[in-house]
Amino acid sequence: MTETMNISLTRTTNSRLKETDLENPVFGKIYSDHMFIADYCDGDWQDLRIEPYGNINLSPANTTLHYASTIFEGLKAHRGIDGSVLVFRPQANAARMVKSAERMCMPPVPEDLFMYAMTELLRVDQEWVPSKKGTSLYIRPFQIAMDPYIGIRPSDTYTFYIITGPVGSYYSEPVKVKIETHYTRAAAGGTGFAKTGGNYAAALYPAVEAAKEGYNQLIWTDGIRHEYVEESGTMNLMFVINDTLVTAPTGDTILKGITRDSILQLAKDEGMAIEERPIKVSEVMGAIENGSMQEAFGAGTAATITPIKTIGFDGKDYDLPPVENWKYASNFLDLLSKIKVGAISDAHGWLYRI
Ligand SMILES: *Cc1c(COP(=O)(O)O)cnc(C)c1O
Repeated sequence: MTETMNISLTRTTNSRLKETDLENPVFGKIYSDHMFIADYCDGDWQDLRIEPYGNINLSPANTTLHYASTIFEGLKAHRGIDGSVLVFRPQANAARMVKSAERMCMPPVPEDLFMYAMTELLRVDQEWVPSKKGTSLYIRPFQIAMDPYIGIRPSDTYTFYIITGPVGSYYSEPVKVKIETHYTRAAAGGTGFAKTGGNYAAALYPAVEAAKEGYNQLIWTDGIRHEYVEESGTMNLMFVINDTLVTAPTGDTILKGITRDSILQLAKDEGMAIEERPIKVSEVMGAIENGSMQEAFGAGTAATITPIKTIGFDGKDYDLPPVENWKYASNFLDLLSKIKVGAISDAHGWLYRI
């Protein structure tokens, strides 16, 4: 930012807060009263503003609508047990959004602008942060190209937005997942590590096909031989095998999840053995069959941890040990949930107080 950051504020005259059931929000349906907006043109971020939440006016030739020049982030603010508003590791999201921007040929939102904009928006809408156990305020920053031009080239203009909305419990029912060995989510040299729209649009068809066969989600495998497991849906994938936490290394096909990183840190803190290494599908199936696979779960901001009860592979379903008997995933979920609301010590400085 060249100038000092100055955000103009236009408050809504029509708050929806009172008519909103904050304690039982439906994910992705309810948005807070205000949104943050900044425009990029002439080589700088300008016109920083907080306005009433509302529709965006776009040219039909807007390049994002045609070519998916869009990136996003997802993070959460929790109501601390002392009533404060606590955001979980937002600096990591700001840094990751810069990486996504670089890959997508977009001007990065400076990390200090991201943090300042988020902070000011949460101050304005702080009453939207719910307090019931497990609830939170989901924060969705995103950036889109704005040129009204249907030729293919990087845009000259962009807009950065932040919207927020209350969301319900992080508790997730155990899921049945299928190992995908035909379709590919991310290829080496591609955009899998970036939170960019096209990755998710392209993942819908295989997921819908798997849903027809009764699977809640896919386990993605490498795009070369479909020999190694990579991610589970839009979550990182973690296993407990012989009391060791095993997860694939992040790279250009595996997104660097902040939940994944936090769980690895907590496991280290507890002296648990950790292995970050490529994991073959055959190893996963073998470990289920010989009983050394104790737990398998997805890790991501939306649900924190999603336990996997069954893995489908090659037309056959393999059951994991009953989730009630797991001890590691439930412990990580418990620790993270307590850290996020300030109920236990934040030893790694993960909380950002509004
Ligand atoms: C966002 C995301 C994750 C999880 O990242 P968190 O920072 O933990 O929320 C994992 N995989 C994909 C593909 C994602 O988009």
